[in-house]
Amino acid sequence: MTLDIGTQHRDASVSGPSSDLSPSPPSSPGLVSTHAAAVSPAPARKPTTASNAASTSAILSWSDEKVKSCSSLRARKDLRRNLEVDVLQNIQKALRTSPNPFFNDPGAAAQEALRQAQIYKAWIQDQEGSSLEVAIVNDHPQGPADGCPPYDFVWVNGYVHDDTIPPSDPSELQGCDCEDDACNPATCKCFQKAVRFDTLNIYKESKQFAYNADGTLQDMMVPTYPIFECNSKCGCSSACTNRVVQKGRRVEIEFFKHQHYGWGVRARHRIKRHTFIGIYSGELVSDAEADRRAIVYEDVGSTYHFTIDPHPIKLETMRKRLASSPEGRTMTEEQLMQRVNDWTRLMDLYQAHREHKVTAKQLKEFNDRQIVEAKRKGEWSRRWQAELEAELAEWEARYREEPDNYLSLEPEDQARAEDLSLFYEDQQEANELTVDGALHGNFTRFFNHSCDPNLATWPVWIEEGSIWRPFFCFFALRNIEAGDELNFSYTSAEEVDDMVKRLNQIQVEQGTKPGTKRMKCLCGASNCRGFVFG
Ligand SMILES: [Zn+2]
Ligand SMILES: [Zn+2]
Ligand SMILES: [Zn+2]
Repeated sequence: MTLDIGTQHRDASVSGPSSDLSPSPPSSPGLVSTHAAAVSPAPARKPTTASNAASTSAILSWSDEKVKSCSSLRARKDLRRNLEVDVLQNIQKALRTSPNPFFNDPGAAAQEALRQAQIYKAWIQDQEGSSLEVAIVNDHPQGPADGCPPYDFVWVNGYVHDDTIPPSDPSELQGCDCEDDACNPATCKCFQKAVRFDTLNIYKESKQFAYNADGTLQDMMVPTYPIFECNSKCGCSSACTNRVVQKGRRVEIEFFKHQHYGWGVRARHRIKRHTFIGIYSGELVSDAEADRRAIVYEDVGSTYHFTIDPHPIKLETMRKRLASSPEGRTMTEEQLMQRVNDWTRLMDLYQAHREHKVTAKQLKEFNDRQIVEAKRKGEWSRRWQAELEAELAEWEARYREEPDNYLSLEPEDQARAEDLSLFYEDQQEANELTVDGALHGNFTRFFNHSCDPNLATWPVWIEEGSIWRPFFCFFALRNIEAGDELNFSYTSAEEVDDMVKRLNQIQVEQGTKPGTKRMKCLCGASNCRGFVFG
C-alpha cells in the first residue's frame, strides 16, 4: 500500500544508516539519524499544531484587532455574527480589567462567573440552533471572566470563506436517484462514488455504507477513510443510513477548565465507539494565506490549521486528467481507477526518490562539516573519514537495491512519474485549501492534544461536489466514558517522525543538540511521547 491519507494506511519507514538521534563524536563514523525513508510516503505539507494552552509568552490574543484583521471576513463590521462576538469580547475584557466591582467580593465574583457560564451556554445553543445540552464548568475561576471559555472566535457550523476563494459550484454536486426512503448500496450512486476511492476494499467487501443503522461508523472504517453522504440532490429521505454528519451533533458535551491546558471539552455521557462528535469547522483559506496568517498566529501562541489533503483528492484529480484524455474516454470506470492507482504508485516512488536525494545531500553536507571540524580539532584520521564515507555509501546502496523504488522503473515510467507528479503539484498549488479554525470555528477547536487520543477525523463530503472540500469530522475511536476528556493527536505518527527528522537536521545545522526545541506534552497518556510541536 502506498497511500498517504493516514497512519493506518502507511508503510513502515525504512531506517536511515543510524538510529542514533545525536551526531556521534568524530571518534566513530557518525551520521545524524534520518528516519529517512527510501520508500516512505510524502509527509503532509504542513504540520498541524494547535493548543488551547494559555501561553504566558503570548504577546497577542485572539481578540486583538491586529489578529482579527488577519481574516477580512472576521474584520467585517457589517456581519451580525462578528458584531455579537465583538460585544462579548469587550464584556469579557472589562470583567478581567481592574478596577472591577467584583474584585473585592469573592462571593459576587463567583456568582458573576456562573452567570457568564450561562451566557456562554446560551450563545452556543443559539449558534448551533440546537437545545442539546452544553455544560460549562470551571471549579476554580480566577475571576468573573473566567467562568466561561474566551470568546476568541466566531461560531460557525461548517466552512466560511471570503471572495478570494471561489464559491462551491452547485452543478458539481451529484446525488443518487434512489426512490426509497433509504438507499440500497447495491444500486445507489452515492455508494458507487465511495467505491471509487475504496483503496482498502472496505465498501466493496462489506457492501455497506460507511455507517451502521445506529449512525456509528461500521467496524472496518479506519480513520481518514473517505465518506460520501447522501445530499440534497438524492432521492432518499432523512431516514437513509447514509446521512449522519449532516444531522449535526448528537452527543452532549461539557467545557471545563483544565489545570494545564486551559479549556477543554469532555463527554457528559457514555459515547459508543465510532459515534460522530463534530465537524472541524472554520474558514477556508489558500495554503499561501494560511502560511501568512501562521506568522501572526505564532505571536498568540497556537495555530488551528488543518490542510485538506486526504487521498481521494489525489485519486480524483488524476482520474479527471485520465478521463479527459483520448485513451481515458474509451475506458470503463474500473479501468480508469486501476490506471489511476498505477499512476499514484509511480508518483509516490518519484516523491520518495526526491526526498531521498534531499536527505542524501544533507547527510553528505553533515559529513563534510564533521570532517572540517575533526581536522580543526586535530582529531581527524584517514581511517575515520573512510568509515564515515562508507556508511553513507552503504545507505545509498541499500536504497538502490530496494526492489520497489524509482530507480528500478523503466525510463518511460520514470518520465511519466515525474510528469504526473508535477501535474499534481500544480493542481495542489491552485486548489488545495486549509481550514483555519482560529477566528472561526466551533467546540472542536477546544479539543486538546493527546498521544493516546479517543477521537480521530474522517473526511466527509456532503453538500459539496468539489473533491477539494470535504469536512474533517471527529468520531470516537473507542467507547468513551462520561467525564472523559475528548482529544485527538495533533500529529500523526508519520508527521512526528518527519518533524523529528527535520528538527534534528535543522538543529545539527545550527550546531545545537537535536531534540531540544519541543513543547512539553502534558497529556498524561501512558504512551505519551513527551512532547508536542508548538
Ligand atoms: Zn441516500
Ligand atoms: Zn442512493
Ligand atoms: Zn445519495
